[in-house]
Amino acid sequence: MHAGKRRGRDYTPLFRFLLSRVGKDWTQVHSEAVSRLDDEAPIFWLVARTEAEQQSSVLMGQNSYYSGLYVDDDNRLAIVDPTLSVEQMEPSCSCCTHTFNGIPFTRPFRGR
Ligand SMILES: [Zn+2]
Repeated sequence: MHAGKRRGRDYTPLFRFLLSRVGKDWTQVHSEAVSRLDDEAPIFWLVARTEAEQQSSVLMGQNSYYSGLYVDDDNRLAIVDPTLSVEQMEPSCSCCTHTFNGIPFTRPFRGR
């Protein structure tokens, strides 16, 4: 196994898949996601396994944020903070393009 190589893999399609399945039965979503992967760990970068793991947004790589997800009491994939939108996100610098669920931030960098 080449762990270093795998780390550099682009999981954007996986994250988009998971976001597109919000509200769907987790058992089905999980098995469909696993069937596309050789390692299911990246699923749980986005999907919290415990309440303590739940985050409103999750940073992947340098500048790509995604909605944190969890599995609700009805076994459906859900968004931790559905009120969080790209308009609320503050970029941490002016030189990079920051995105939230693939959408570029609309707020400018405000400096310090
Ligand atoms: Zn930058």
